[in-house]
Amino acid sequence: MVATTLAQDDSPFFSLLPPEIRELIYQDIWSESGSRQHIYKDNDKWSHVPCVADYSTGDTRFEKFTQSARGSQEEYYWVKRLKSEWCYHWCCEQSTAKWHRAQNPNDSWREENVGHAGPSGFMNPMLVCKRMYREALPSLVANTTFVFTDLLEAHGWLSLYGGNPEKLPIRSLEICILTTQLMTELYFPTSEENEGPNPAFGHGNSSNGRSEDSHPGITMHSNPWQRVCDQLALLPNLHSLHIWFHTRDLRDWHKRMSETRFFAKLFNVKVKDRNQFVLALPDLPLKPKRGLPSHHFFENETLEGAPFVVERGPRPNNWRVHLMASGLRGP
Ligand SMILES: [Zn+2]
Repeated sequence: MVATTLAQDDSPFFSLLPPEIRELIYQDIWSESGSRQHIYKDNDKWSHVPCVADYSTGDTRFEKFTQSARGSQEEYYWVKRLKSEWCYHWCCEQSTAKWHRAQNPNDSWREENVGHAGPSGFMNPMLVCKRMYREALPSLVANTTFVFTDLLEAHGWLSLYGGNPEKLPIRSLEICILTTQLMTELYFPTSEENEGPNPAFGHGNSSNGRSEDSHPGITMHSNPWQRVCDQLALLPNLHSLHIWFHTRDLRDWHKRMSETRFFAKLFNVKVKDRNQFVLALPDLPLKPKRGLPSHHFFENETLEGAPFVVERGPRPNNWRVHLMASGLRGP
């Protein structure tokens, strides 16, 4: 790329405008076309769509689901949204071409009620010429909040762009994860006395030559979430990091989750201002109703020295969604 990049001296953009003005023009383009962008895979190709979700308005999916008429198309879509991996970013998912392709093309309710992002000018400067690509890419990375809703995609993208912090300074990330039951069980201790890794899952090796792992290679210390945490810890320029979690487990979060074990590696991540490093977790009930002792939950002393702040909020009740979506919805 360096060897074949032309100087483009005939272009007034490069010959007349100083680099500072060009940088301001790039920044205007990023902000006009959406400075928060979802990054996801579509048919194995990286794709992006502007983020239109507003975290501060709360998650209203369950409420909307209960208000929709039983058996209606509206109800069908709210169930899909409640089960979506994009969680409170469901409206962003519905503006992707990938989501639209997967729906019934003759669905009139979808046509009237669901948006489509359409083409965006976000990537245009990257397509003009090699000189503009090389000049604009660091600006794009530094001025965009990248939003991920899948751990493997986050890991893949950080592997591509996270290893060159001087040229590509990643400053702002959002990670919104609906985790699987397997992931939370990896961290759940089997008893109060035995706080080691859950023996129901593999330890990554087998001393007797026989593998008894139900999920070989996946352990509390080696899994997609741990790998993303390790990558986050290597980013030196983070100004903002927002991590939101919920689980697919039908049982309540507080009954099967050890927060202090699951999120331990986040203590290695550095964000310049602690208040800009937010870990958004589900609400907790009073202590007697929890599945584990209090040192497994983030509050008071377990948060001492944490580089992040914890924000709690309501989450859809998976068990109720399951019952109601299965036709057992009450009057
Ligand atoms: Zn979004």
